[in-house]
Amino acid sequence: MSAQTYNNIRRILFSTANNSEKGFSVAYDWMEKTYRHQLDQRSYVGLMAELRFYERHGRDFCLTVAGDMGEHADFAGMYGSRPARFDVTTNIGFKKFGDYEPFMGTGPSYKIALLDQGNFEVIDVLDLAFPRCNFCGGYLFPAIVLLGQNYSRDGESQWTNDQLLIDVCAGCEEYIEKNRFSHFGLFSPQEHYNAFAGSDDDEFAAESAEQHVISAYKYFRRQHSDYLMAVGSHNYKTTEPRGGGYWTINFNFVNAAVANEMPSEIECPNEI
Ligand SMILES: [Zn+2]
Repeated sequence: MSAQTYNNIRRILFSTANNSEKGFSVAYDWMEKTYRHQLDQRSYVGLMAELRFYERHGRDFCLTVAGDMGEHADFAGMYGSRPARFDVTTNIGFKKFGDYEPFMGTGPSYKIALLDQGNFEVIDVLDLAFPRCNFCGGYLFPAIVLLGQNYSRDGESQWTNDQLLIDVCAGCEEYIEKNRFSHFGLFSPQEHYNAFAGSDDDEFAAESAEQHVISAYKYFRRQHSDYLMAVGSHNYKTTEPRGGGYWTINFNFVNAAVANEMPSEIECPNEI
């Protein structure tokens, strides 16, 4: 399944649920008959949890559905008398989450709505929390790095790109590799930009690359990490006239909740 497929299906289901002539029953029906087989199990469960949370608690929390572009959580709403953002999950292990430390950040408070995977009832509404770095005690924020296309030893394109799931320590500005994925045609931000740039509308290319990054964020958050906070890319930064410099991971998108604490780049090897 591609990031685009996932985001399209989400958009269709929520606009169906919001449509007064169709509503939730039609959205659930389409989900089961049409979309379920296009999604993998994890995306299916995640989207069902979002729909159920919206249906049952939309009024209590004054929820509005975040679109699939540029927004930082699944829903915006109110928690008590305060504005809040809500992300929905079915995957937080309570045991693991118990070791995390609440993170307040800046701006509206950020809540994690934990739903049961079986019946999609809300189990709890939690504060955003992250584990701490073993070395410096800083927060560890999960991020996904969209790497460039894979080539064989003979220089032939493999038509795949890898993505690296990392924990970024906001204290020592190091990262820990957690997992690696490979997708067909999921370009790095620069590759996506290059595909559209060149003629005369570079602004369009920049906007398109930005949307590509956010679409990947939404997809990976649902698919591989419940509290993913950033999307990055792997770049060579030139600092000297003769081309000397260093390799970095830069963040193209950072969730507003952690924007003040996230390093803007981290040094890294040229092969990651
Ligand atoms: Zn650290």
